[in-house]
Amino acid sequence: MASIVERLKKSKFRSQFRLEKEDYVYIGKTGLTTIKTHAYDFIRRRLAPREPRNDGKQTPYKGHPIFKAQHATATCCRGCLSKWYKIEKKRELKAQEIDMIVSVIMNWIETHEQVHRGTSNTRRD
Ligand SMILES: [Zn+2]
Repeated sequence: MASIVERLKKSKFRSQFRLEKEDYVYIGKTGLTTIKTHAYDFIRRRLAPREPRNDGKQTPYKGHPIFKAQHATATCCRGCLSKWYKIEKKRELKAQEIDMIVSVIMNWIETHEQVHRGTSNTRRD
């Protein structure tokens, strides 16, 4: 998995995604445990089916921090999962693939959240 993180960092498109202030507020209010249940819910409904609805366009660019994390980690659609993670299209995702995807997404969010907390200590609202 480390090599995928390295490859994502080198992608200009993938590395442009950032969490905004509103995302951090939302994460702070909601808590990472609940955010993780949202991640499972989105992945199961939007990516896991054999032929997901609107595949390629099912992940908005904002509205939930998970969506941004999905674009940043190339877990936004089956095309990206196939290209970056070698997960074949036209079949349902396996439980362990869903776990792997959610852990990649949560990893991205937690990393950004830690950096954000580290840099925002001086200006508390
Ligand atoms: Zn995609």
